[in-house]
Amino acid sequence: MVVSEIMAQQTPVARVVGPWTTWMDHWPSPGHLAVEPPGAAVAAWGRLGYPRRALRLHEAASRMVERHGGEVPADLAALESLPGFGRYTAAAVFSFAFGGRAPVLDTNVRRVLARVEDAVEFPPTSASAGEWRRAGEWVGVLEGTPGAPEPALWAVASMELGALVCTARTPACALCPLQSDCAWVGAGRPRYAGPPRRTQAWHGTDRQCRGVLLDVVRRADADGLAVDASRLLAGWADADQARRCLDGLAADGLVRVGPDGVRL
Ligand code: SF4
Repeated sequence: MVVSEIMAQQTPVARVVGPWTTWMDHWPSPGHLAVEPPGAAVAAWGRLGYPRRALRLHEAASRMVERHGGEVPADLAALESLPGFGRYTAAAVFSFAFGGRAPVLDTNVRRVLARVEDAVEFPPTSASAGEWRRAGEWVGVLEGTPGAPEPALWAVASMELGALVCTARTPACALCPLQSDCAWVGAGRPRYAGPPRRTQAWHGTDRQCRGVLLDVVRRADADGLAVDASRLLAGWADADQARRCLDGLAADGLVRVGPDGVRL
């Protein structure tokens, strides 16, 4: 549960299945991962992207061994304090793994609630305290809320509604069970009028460059080899960008640059 949530944070689920299966075969518990060097986690991360998540997962496993007896803590505050766990990830694990009651507010749920309650096509760029409070009211975080839904069922239902029906570009309002209560539909589906929405660039970015460099190091590491730094940098057209990205990878602890070359 923890591994799949962290892997799926910024990677489509279809790409997560293979690496997740391999990961769980190797490290079925936090204790199994914690005894490995961090580089092993980076190597197993493969091409899932945002590889700092592998290091955070390794740190979280170590923390669980140190403070929670090698178990995933069944406590929302303890989950939120783990490395790599944001509020969403902690709530998802708390809800799905332990049946806890917490708002699981992902991008899809934010969009549904913004349309149903605020009559806007898209929510603001980042989730506000008000959005979290409202999401908590929907799932009945207050003790004894009458008619509160079963938390994991509510979480998966609201996430799937956003992913499959209330989609960003073509919401299928005619199929939606909330249509008669939806403020955005009631207002005539007004188009988004806020600031430009962020689109994630890829080609030529530092993120792409880091991924390319790390992939070369990872493949060499699988054969027990280091990569000569100058040869590694020569594989990217922009030498300044390559140097900056290699320095960044080293600063993040994703690679080690030594006299024999670059390793995980
Ligand atoms: S009625 Fe349309 S806009 Fe409203 S929640 Fe359903 S799919 Fe989304």
